[in-house]
Amino acid sequence: MLDYEYEELAALVVSWGFKEAGAREIFTGLHRRVFQNKEQFDTTRVSPKLLDKLFEDGPPISPFRAVNAFPSADGSTKYVYTLPNGQKVESVWMPFGKYVTLCVSSQVGCALGCTFCATGAMGFKRHLSPAEMLGQVIHMRRENPFPNKKPGRYNVVFMGMGEPLHNFKGVMHVFRALTHPFGMVLSDQNVAISTSGLVPKIQELGQLEHRPRLMVSIAAPDNQARSAVMPVNRAYPLEMLLETLENFPLKKKERIMLSYVLIAGVNDQPQDAARLAAMSARFPSLVNLIPMNAHKDSPGMNEPGEDHLCAFSQLLKNHGAFTTIRRSRGRDVAGACGQLAAQV
Ligand code: SAH
Ligand code: SF4
Repeated sequence: MLDYEYEELAALVVSWGFKEAGAREIFTGLHRRVFQNKEQFDTTRVSPKLLDKLFEDGPPISPFRAVNAFPSADGSTKYVYTLPNGQKVESVWMPFGKYVTLCVSSQVGCALGCTFCATGAMGFKRHLSPAEMLGQVIHMRRENPFPNKKPGRYNVVFMGMGEPLHNFKGVMHVFRALTHPFGMVLSDQNVAISTSGLVPKIQELGQLEHRPRLMVSIAAPDNQARSAVMPVNRAYPLEMLLETLENFPLKKKERIMLSYVLIAGVNDQPQDAARLAAMSARFPSLVNLIPMNAHKDSPGMNEPGEDHLCAFSQLLKNHGAFTTIRRSRGRDVAGACGQLAAQV
């Protein structure tokens, strides 16, 4: 049922001879009130006949066979979803005071094969359906209710498994559902997608009146080094990517986030910081440093030491780049370097 855009649901409900208002309430029930069964709809004004019709084949609202939660000490929780055929994807719930960031997956595996990435090592299995992407958001909201539920307190980022711009159609469907006035009512800026740099799709995104914010993974500041760790760079080299970003139409005060996985001994030298800062200066942007999260599929790629991470971040700042650091669990702790150093 989560696979229907609002307009499709409305057309279906009207084609069955019911009023469109019923579709509105069903959409709100699913997307805003995170209902999970027919009984919860019984408390609404939706006509019982419409509910019978809607649930006549007993369609399950949840697209997952199972979900497992893994809470972490920093307050975030990772969820692992088992799909009907046994494949697994992940999402992360990351609270920051009044706001929460929901990091969701867009594909099972990924076709782009970045050498530092565990998802890349899996290869591409398939795109997630809109229901499977929205299902992650809805599951996390159901599991973590806010005391005074209000719309607009969430950020959804497509930064889990997969390349969202490869699943462009599905991801844009999810974006429209998340920002729909009868749904969660997120604003466009509350949704972000992270891409490895699929130039034609970035251009397509830029032409839309309503679109999510853009984050681009850089990982290396010159073509030779970037092609070695991100094969996508051979199709869309840095110069082409940066030119596309320069021409990407930004809203007032909007900035493009440049993600940079910092890998010890690979892309962490002072000249790398200088080049990265020079890229960042070409258009309104923010550099987000992500220390390498070491795993067995990327041997020899390790997290830089805390001192080195801070020094690299400081160099970027000295070169004039806006810089934040994202810790492995996902928590942005811009400016924490000094504090951490003070604790040692
Ligand atoms: N495919 C998209 C979004 C998913 S990857 C993209 O590449 O942008 C999300 C982010 O995690 C990317 O910025 C990527 O560079 C980063 N990443 C991948 N593997 C990592 C690892 N082992 N350690 C730290 N960050 C990693
Ligand atoms: Fe991993 Fe993103 Fe590269 Fe895909 S594009 S392999 S998800 S870093």
